[in-house]
Amino acid sequence: MGSESYKFLLFLKEYQKNLIAFLFALFLGLAFVVYENGFAYNVLVDGVSIGVTRDVEGVKRAVEEIKKEEMQKWGDVVFDQEISFERIRVSGERVKDAREIEASLKKILSLTCKAYAIEVNGKPVAFLKSKEEAYKTLEDLKSEYKKDADKIYFKEEIKIKSKYISPTKLVEEKEALEILRKPLKEAVTYEVKENDSLWSIAREHDMYIQDILKLNPGLTENLKPGQIIYLSKEVPLVTVVTEKEVTYKEEIPFNTKFTKDDKLFVNQSKVLVEGEKGLKEIKAVVISHNGVEVKRDIKEERVLKEPVSKVVAVGSRRVSYVATGYFSYPARGTITSRFGPRWGGFHTGVDIAARYGSPIYASDGGTVIFAGWESGYGYLVKIDHHNGYVTYYGHASKLLVKVGDKVEKGQKIALVGATGHATGPHVHFEVRKNGVPIDPMRFLGR
Ligand SMILES: [Zn+2]
Repeated sequence: MGSESYKFLLFLKEYQKNLIAFLFALFLGLAFVVYENGFAYNVLVDGVSIGVTRDVEGVKRAVEEIKKEEMQKWGDVVFDQEISFERIRVSGERVKDAREIEASLKKILSLTCKAYAIEVNGKPVAFLKSKEEAYKTLEDLKSEYKKDADKIYFKEEIKIKSKYISPTKLVEEKEALEILRKPLKEAVTYEVKENDSLWSIAREHDMYIQDILKLNPGLTENLKPGQIIYLSKEVPLVTVVTEKEVTYKEEIPFNTKFTKDDKLFVNQSKVLVEGEKGLKEIKAVVISHNGVEVKRDIKEERVLKEPVSKVVAVGSRRVSYVATGYFSYPARGTITSRFGPRWGGFHTGVDIAARYGSPIYASDGGTVIFAGWESGYGYLVKIDHHNGYVTYYGHASKLLVKVGDKVEKGQKIALVGATGHATGPHVHFEVRKNGVPIDPMRFLGR
């Protein structure tokens, strides 16, 4: 019994010691909690506070969540801003929970994602999510022209480069193709030519007048030749160049050779040998830009058939409209009435009966001063020989010359008829010297 009570006392003593230790620990713990409650964390985005929280781990998890969501959409992403935490003593600020901080972060944070830029002459024009998509876009662009090409390449320097960009700039392959196909408006200078107007320039360059005025502030309709103005020209952003070897046949035009013939008049010619086209086979490389041929390099030419030259005889006989001073018969026929008194009147010329429609010739060179209808004469031609003599040719069925025509001696001027006072087809031929009719037989011989 005695030892048991001792044990109990001992226990009590121990317990008392432990209790003190326990109470002390409890006190320390409470003091720590109270002390810690006076602290929190300022959440900083690029050094600027967006709120105070005690749940740092919760906020960190939220940031990871946001990043994970964006990565699912855009792949490799990086936040543009830096998030940091600053331990502060709370003095009146409202302490927010992780959800509230997350909502603020979602509004503030922006991110960039890894993309592949298609660069044309060093300038990025389209951003795609993957390298494969970027390559495929370029291949698709080429494939349109692939079907007839031995060689296909881009005229511009085209590169694919990885870049961090805002995901809003990303495009799908279809959109990238549209961008690459779209022609660009490029300003070009134009020198105003004689008789140019805004309208003619606009029409020639497929533009609207308003657009020309927009490019050239202060420009008016008052254009001066030599003036430089700006116009816009459509140029493709990307040019697909194709080269294709082709073989085809082409005609060879023939030459025309001329020989002189003094039997023909200067303005007359006669074909002696008809020309014949030749044929050649051509091997060439056709170079096209976006499907439009721009150049043809001839590699080889083989003549299959030589052309035959055309030979033309050209008259060298000079035409003289100058009177010779001698008259010749104006028609072939029979003299039916001579110059002199007739039926109580006076016959002012000679009548030469000839076949209806046969030619009437100029008796000598000169100028036609009348060709028309005259009472009694019917259809009549008058030729002035510029030497004081004028000849008349009457009763024609058809006139072949007109006033002002220069005629050569022996030239066909009309056709025999019976117009005016005539009983049958004949030529009434008259010679007048200084306006007075004289006997033509003095010149024609009997
Ligand atoms: Zn007569």
